[in-house]
Amino acid sequence: MKVINEYSSHHYEQEYKKIDLFCPNCGKKEVWEEQGEGDYYSGTKHICTSCNNAFYLPSLYNMEQTHELSIVEQLKSGKTKKPSTKRGK
Ligand SMILES: [Zn+2]
Repeated sequence: MKVINEYSSHHYEQEYKKIDLFCPNCGKKEVWEEQGEGDYYSGTKHICTSCNNAFYLPSLYNMEQTHELSIVEQLKSGKTKKPSTKRGK
């Protein structure tokens, strides 16, 4: 689904897809993967909406609680947020 990642002055549209994977942190199957090319070194970003953990596969680089709670909210509710800022490039 489409989510809005909003900063103070602009926002980005990102696409997340729920995947068939158990969260490496909490073990629940509530993992969403960001669609796109990902980062060459760290891999693609994943967010667990059960424990709010963000991680990258395959490296598990930088596994930590996500600060992007508004993205978690959108994934949980299934509703894309209405941005109040202009779209970033
Ligand atoms: Zn989790």
